[in-house]
Amino acid sequence: MDPRDCRVGILGATGAVGQTFVRLLEEHPWFTVTAVAASEQSAGRPYREAVNWLSGAPIPSDVATLEVQRTDPAVMDCDFVFSALSSSVAGDIERSFADAGVPVVSNAKNYRLHDRVPLLIPEVNPEHAALIETQEWGGGGFIVTNPNCSTTGLICGLHPLMETYDVEAVQVTMLQALSGAGYPGVPSLDAVGNVIPHIGGEEDKLATEPRKILGSLEGRRVEPADLTLSAQCTRVPVRTGHLACVSVRFREEVGAPAVERALQRFEAPASTEALPSRPDTFVQVLDAPDAPQPRRHVDAGDGMTVSVGRVQDCPVNDVKFVLLSHNTVRGAAGGAVLNAELLATEGYFRPERKSEAVSQP
Ligand code: NAP
Repeated sequence: MDPRDCRVGILGATGAVGQTFVRLLEEHPWFTVTAVAASEQSAGRPYREAVNWLSGAPIPSDVATLEVQRTDPAVMDCDFVFSALSSSVAGDIERSFADAGVPVVSNAKNYRLHDRVPLLIPEVNPEHAALIETQEWGGGGFIVTNPNCSTTGLICGLHPLMETYDVEAVQVTMLQALSGAGYPGVPSLDAVGNVIPHIGGEEDKLATEPRKILGSLEGRRVEPADLTLSAQCTRVPVRTGHLACVSVRFREEVGAPAVERALQRFEAPASTEALPSRPDTFVQVLDAPDAPQPRRHVDAGDGMTVSVGRVQDCPVNDVKFVLLSHNTVRGAAGGAVLNAELLATEGYFRPERKSEAVSQP
């Protein structure tokens, strides 16, 4: 048996992100979904009846027949859980799992900025997983989070630049898809033919989360990156894919060709090489003058590759570009699955097998 093999539970399995977990985990080489949970309204029903399934593909048959359970660690039979819970309930529920010794790989915002909780993108800051060792829940449980969907895309574009150059400030205008608001999300009469220049809490997340992710691990804490960020977030009538218009100021002389080269030459850390959900290309740079576009490019790398285009010198800052990322895959469930793959490889889900896991190729 592969030491990375795990039985997986999904909290919030009936929601938009929960369904994406179910879809992405179908035929996963290491993870098997053995339990699904949601609110009291869904509990007790077969998953296929409780869920309003949004994908065109059928519900994976192994999951369709599972009974939806209450979000209670005592009843869920699994080695760890993914959490796609609404943030209004995620705080208490995720804590109860960690306290019961069940690792939680979460999408929700509740613990992202907690000092001892890794806010993880495996290609960017895999070393931050070590913060798990500082957590003190009962029974060896822990919580790991992935960033907000907009933050994730932005970081994928910024990290290769920050590895090469000294970035001083970033200004970003987000054009965010409707699916980022869950289902049913924004009322259709507000969304169709319209742009809404407010998404509650989003601009704050973009100002704070990147500094933690891009920060350096100093002993048992993360020293935030010295970076000024200014974000404006709008909701646009696009189904999937967050588009970001980004402008970057450097502390040294850097132009558009250098930025393109840094994005193209980026190599993810060796510790991520064997992860099944890691895309071959972290960021693809597109030459077409009208790229990237949500409808054409959002599924690059099965939704895990970020697309960048329109890289130009900027007369206000130094360089500007347009970036596109898949908000429910790279920005949510796919990012969390990749996090879990990193943790499985490093032996975090099976502490007793840690030495065996680490020696895997
Ligand atoms: P959603 O469609 O509203 O789904 C919420 C899920 O939480 C449902 O399964 C729901 O179960 C469950 N739930 C609600 N109240 C509950 C309770 N009291 N006890 C147990 N379960 C409860 O939301 P979503 O868009 O999938 O987002 C899920 C999480 O991921 C949120 O924290 C969100 O901020 C985050 N996120 C979303 C995106 C995105 O692009 N959508 C991206 C990144 C992060 P029922 O169906 O039974 O009500």
